[in-house]
Amino acid sequence: METTSEMDAQTAEASQENFMRQLRETFDKLPNDIPLYMFVDRGDDNVYTQTNRQIVRAFREMSSRITFREYYMDNELAGKWNVDRSPTLLIAPERYNIRWLGAPVGEEGRIFLETLIFAGMGKSNLNQQTLGVLDKIDTPRNIKVFVSATCPYCPQQAVNAVRAAIERPDLVSVEIVDIQAEPELANQYSAFSVPQTFANDVLIGQGAQSEEVFALSLLKLEPQTIFIPDSDAELVENDLVVIGGGPAGLAAGIYAERSGLKAAVIERDALGGQVALTPIVENYPGFTSVGGKTLVDIMVSHALQYVQIFAGEEVLEIEPGNPITVKTSRREFKTRAVLLATGAKHRNLGVPGESRLSGKGVSYCATCDGPLFKGKKVIMVGGGSSAVTEALHLSHQGVNVTLVHRRDSLRAQEVLTKQLEANHIPILWNTEVQEILGRERVQGVELANNRSGEQTRLEVDGVFIAIGYEPSVDLARKIGIELNEEGFIKHDEKHRTGIPGIYSAGDVEGGYKQIVTATGQGAAAAMTIFEDLMNPYWLAKAN
Ligand code: NAP
Repeated sequence: METTSEMDAQTAEASQENFMRQLRETFDKLPNDIPLYMFVDRGDDNVYTQTNRQIVRAFREMSSRITFREYYMDNELAGKWNVDRSPTLLIAPERYNIRWLGAPVGEEGRIFLETLIFAGMGKSNLNQQTLGVLDKIDTPRNIKVFVSATCPYCPQQAVNAVRAAIERPDLVSVEIVDIQAEPELANQYSAFSVPQTFANDVLIGQGAQSEEVFALSLLKLEPQTIFIPDSDAELVENDLVVIGGGPAGLAAGIYAERSGLKAAVIERDALGGQVALTPIVENYPGFTSVGGKTLVDIMVSHALQYVQIFAGEEVLEIEPGNPITVKTSRREFKTRAVLLATGAKHRNLGVPGESRLSGKGVSYCATCDGPLFKGKKVIMVGGGSSAVTEALHLSHQGVNVTLVHRRDSLRAQEVLTKQLEANHIPILWNTEVQEILGRERVQGVELANNRSGEQTRLEVDGVFIAIGYEPSVDLARKIGIELNEEGFIKHDEKHRTGIPGIYSAGDVEGGYKQIVTATGQGAAAAMTIFEDLMNPYWLAKAN
């Protein structure tokens, strides 16, 4: 008889084979060949060069559409295509100007796969709004996207750039720069946070942008935060609009659709909310240990089986009524119920130097930026579970991290604080950051002991901040939803807010703020919404 682990191994092998077969079929259906060229210095057989060879060979074996040639930097083709760094990987250089500095491993593998597919298709599949913006570009744009193998936001941004280069090969070129492979280049651009995007050497985006916001930033050569389309907004009519694509919103979308409601989930930033930034999750039932981004990917692909997700779209306005109107940066929704699952955004320290040096050594995402600080000295500010999880993650990445906490005991779960001790991560107790120092990048911090009053200056290369979250209640506030004393949405035990037809779930409600509680709240709210729409309590009250 087969053991469970043998059966698990067989299932994993079968799904891997299935995936490879689908990939092979996808490549074989592509209309264009995808020639890849790698240029290396003579004798430069480093880890990136070797990894590139292995990865490209694996793809080449999968499809005859992919070809691979390797040349030394002194070959005339290097001159023809202006290659000046080793190793550089060029993707279909006769048609596009897309190059890779480093090797596409980890999260970067997703960028590489999508790049190959778009190059093979010969089209970008960008939406009409984005194409309209890209059409307006009339002078060259040389984009550099700084990425790392562990950054979950990087694929979205790098693929935006690749798709722009495929749409406008006449004017748009892209370099995907792995910051670990190219530390000098990252240093030169002060790109100490990923993804970070430059066009013609001007910063146009920090973090991942929606495709329209990216295109607009590229057109204007300055970072944009919102894209308001021309007047051709579409109209979507349904039963429920869920605002927020974190665990609460995704669970609500699944439950709503399964109960027969027509629902939509709208998310302005990265799907998954805070979970996408959590290095490791160890308390979500069913997973002993899982990367936050992996868990998000699983949830999103599950939700997509049921519910339509509008990613990279910002809700601008909600007009309560019957129906309720939800206006976004892209279209208008007419709906019967709205669920606010808007989550929470990271809290700032509010000290001098913090905003000026943000992305230049000040970071709120250890998962994204940790690898940049390998072998360097940083502090992690905070005493909750996030600060401790992230300090552990940094330490495991080879970063010399010290925890700085304003009290003499931690708020984090005991299992985590024990790991902190076991990993010998030093803690500065009763210590507050007064100022973050540095001109172009973080060079140190000014600390004060709030018991003794003693001031010290510590030389550090990075300041990671994980001091909790503020609920995202702007939309709720705008329509007059009552908040509690702590600023979270006031709601009843059925997740109803004070306005009929408007509900809340997840971190925006306050409470335990766990992934498992957020998904539970999302599911419960969706079930209430189903019951209420079948039998509206506000009509019963009116009678
Ligand atoms: P948190 O639990 O609210 O902790 C915030 C920490 O930052 C506290 O230690 C607080 O200090 C400190 N702080 C707040 N404002 C500060 C300021 N201005 N200056 C210096 N320090 C400041 O936030 P969190 O750690 O992000 O966790 C949020 C929620 O997610 C929690 O419910 C947590 O349990 C959950 N979470 C769970 C896990 C897990 O289960 N593995 C992992 C991550 C997060 P005081 O202690 O003095 O108030």
